[in-house]
Amino acid sequence: MKSLAVACSALCLPLLPASAAVADDVVPVESPVPLAPPGNVVAEQFGTGLQVTWEAVTGATSYQVLADPSGATCVTATTSCVFDTLPVRTTYTFTVTATDGVVTSPASVPSTPVRLRAQLAEPIFAKDKVLVGRSVRGRKIWAVRQGNPLAVDVMLSIGQMHGSEPAGLRVTDRLRRKPVPADADYQLWTIRTMNPDGASRGNRYNARGVDLNRNFPGTWSTRQYRSGRGPGSEPETRAMMRFIKRLKPTGVLSFHQPWNTVLSVCDQRSAYWVRRTAQLIGLRQPGRPSSCGRWLPGTMNRWTARNTASWFVTVELAPSHRLGRQVRKSATAVVRLAEEMASDSGPALGMAVG
Ligand SMILES: [Zn+2]
Repeated sequence: MKSLAVACSALCLPLLPASAAVADDVVPVESPVPLAPPGNVVAEQFGTGLQVTWEAVTGATSYQVLADPSGATCVTATTSCVFDTLPVRTTYTFTVTATDGVVTSPASVPSTPVRLRAQLAEPIFAKDKVLVGRSVRGRKIWAVRQGNPLAVDVMLSIGQMHGSEPAGLRVTDRLRRKPVPADADYQLWTIRTMNPDGASRGNRYNARGVDLNRNFPGTWSTRQYRSGRGPGSEPETRAMMRFIKRLKPTGVLSFHQPWNTVLSVCDQRSAYWVRRTAQLIGLRQPGRPSSCGRWLPGTMNRWTARNTASWFVTVELAPSHRLGRQVRKSATAVVRLAEEMASDSGPALGMAVG
């Protein structure tokens, strides 16, 4: 460049004004053109991450996006970036700067804050109504989903196991009418009854006279009254085992009657939820949490505690003639428990109560 300039100056100098001679050996660089900051920065949930988009800046060749908090950055030549390794359950804002390789723009106005929800890459079940299985008599056991199909936190509410205990059917009917937003931090699954044969006759047992809450494997015993021919011998039991293993719920509520209290296997992860459930519905608090009381073989809560990471609360509502407002309060409580479970407050409190 310099030799060209010299060659030119030798030839051209006489034609140029005197002032041009001063620039003789200065590299001719265009004066920098300032870049405007990117406008309209928008962030939203995109699968398991957050996608940030903005408007292109004239003259820019690439952009850098900065996440606050975390400090993570993304550099791109396009006008969008996906952040898919940010910690979940955190609220972020993003700013974007543009560059043309020489000049960098001021940072954009931050995006409106967006919370990164804990989400699955795809739903556990494609449909929001799932056939869990069939009873001895061939009746269908259905599970229905409300809320966010991609939420990591999953609540399962089982309205009825014993056909002679109808209160949980009413709780389920109320629950299914509740508007649970599709962008909730949880998905709520309800099974109206897992014992449709018993329900049709108002009978505690299934059609073979087996108490389903004595039929689950792991702690099954021949000594137990009406426990079935063997562990998991009943189709209703096996259907629930398959469903729960696939659903991997965060929490399970199983409605019964008529003791007006809450029962559990007294494991560490259920302790908080047992007390919280009783508090929200207005049921008698359980006795000493360390004493699990008499425990029964073959129960669904023991099987769930042994085979999943879920907490489990057996809800014993009052007898039907004394239910009062318990049905309405129960439905409200299930949603509230799901919300708390999916926020940071629930598990944190759970540790404290232990
Ligand atoms: Zn029961």
